Amino acid sequence: MSTEPRLNNCRLVLFPLPFQGHINPMLQLANILNTKGFKITIIHTHFNSPNQSNYPQFTFKSISDGSSESKNMNLNLDTPDSIINFMNKSCINPLRDCLVTLQEEKPVTCLISDALWHFSQSVADSLNLPRIVLRTSSMSCILVYSALLPHIKNCYLKTTIEEEDPIPDLSLITEKDMLKIFNDDRKEGELELIFSMIKTIKAASGIIWNTFKELEEPAFCAITQNLCIPSFPLGPFHKYFPASSSSLLEQDRSVMLWLDLQPVRSVVYVSFGSITQMGKAEFSNMARGLAKSKQRFLWVVRPGSVSGSEWLQSLPKGFIEEVGERGCIVKWAPQQEVLAHPAIGGFWTHNGWNSTLESICEGVPMICSPCSYDQPINARYVTDVWRVGVMLDNGKEEEIGRVMKSVIMEEEGSEIRQRSNYLQEKVNRSMEKGGSAYESLENLVDFIVSL
Ligand code: UDP
Repeated sequence: MSTEPRLNNCRLVLFPLPFQGHINPMLQLANILNTKGFKITIIHTHFNSPNQSNYPQFTFKSISDGSSESKNMNLNLDTPDSIINFMNKSCINPLRDCLVTLQEEKPVTCLISDALWHFSQSVADSLNLPRIVLRTSSMSCILVYSALLPHIKNCYLKTTIEEEDPIPDLSLITEKDMLKIFNDDRKEGELELIFSMIKTIKAASGIIWNTFKELEEPAFCAITQNLCIPSFPLGPFHKYFPASSSSLLEQDRSVMLWLDLQPVRSVVYVSFGSITQMGKAEFSNMARGLAKSKQRFLWVVRPGSVSGSEWLQSLPKGFIEEVGERGCIVKWAPQQEVLAHPAIGGFWTHNGWNSTLESICEGVPMICSPCSYDQPINARYVTDVWRVGVMLDNGKEEEIGRVMKSVIMEEEGSEIRQRSNYLQEKVNRSMEKGGSAYESLENLVDFIVSL
């Protein structure tokens, strides 16, 4: 570990959003900065609190998030954005009190909080504490959001627009994508969240990205021009510490033994992340498609992810017998290791940003079935810009098998794999000494010290 004297008194407070796709990159960032010599304190909510035993080098402080009180208030906190909107209000005083106590013990250099914790900007301002934002999705996504917001607000909410954000070319995003991004049932809550996020990012001291410049060069240039705060794309965080885990669910490591028995590039890994829900009909359609495909697959079915089922109750009759040894289903997998295994030939994904980036880093071609949030935007970049995957939208049984085969076996698949390997090389170069991610980390360290 670096023992640079200038870092001796630098203590950073990191505040992750309590969802798997946000906790992972924040704790990875904590590891990266700790290795550079910063002392790290993690403030976390009671809800989805991270497993501290994997991080003895950090100090953890928990704050009340109002989730237990919310149960008595009959609030409908059933989607991630309703929870996040609620906690952006309920955590104001607890975060402020916690930061005051920490500062009384020893000065804090800055707060690094998730971009979706928009309330933390005014808390930091009130304590004269610089706030750096961690954005856990792509740089392109913020640009698309900024361009879509006024349009959506006009269409659906009929309110006046306060800001004229620059509008990049949106030809990539279709009406259908937009309906998924701003799903009808939760559109207002999501709009409130994204609008506040973008506004408070602009008030922050700087922004850290879990991506690399070469992947999103046009977005990086547009953001540097428009945001007017320093941007630090540090490269995929998990590449710095491949073995570290901040998993909220127990990973089933037996999948690695199963993968060892499969031929090279023969298995499609299927996982839709940590929050996606699906109906019974959609789930059994997926299962029938996997069975009919005759391809090998490793399928993560998170308990509770199929509405009305505890786990596999909604599998079609005879599925297990039909699939036999060529399929493996688990509740939760060590995904990064799975993607790095030579037996993996493709990844059928919902295109959460972490999954997308993890796939790019291993050169694994993607089959994209985005559901909501930023996923449709990520999927468009994967299929239409980087061309390292194919779209599978509401695929019927036969379509699922056809797409799986095309990615694993056919000409189309080998071209996608070539482009995937090219991106993989790019990311590796970016992390080497002199590469853009490497330089960005050096710049971030200097920037924090200068605060
Ligand atoms: N993940 C995992 N095991 C699984 C499925 C997912 O460890 O079986 C991890 C995955 O590696 C990624 C995160 O969970 O880091 C999911 O984040 P992502 O942004 O892809 O999707 P989200 O869960 O936010 O929708």
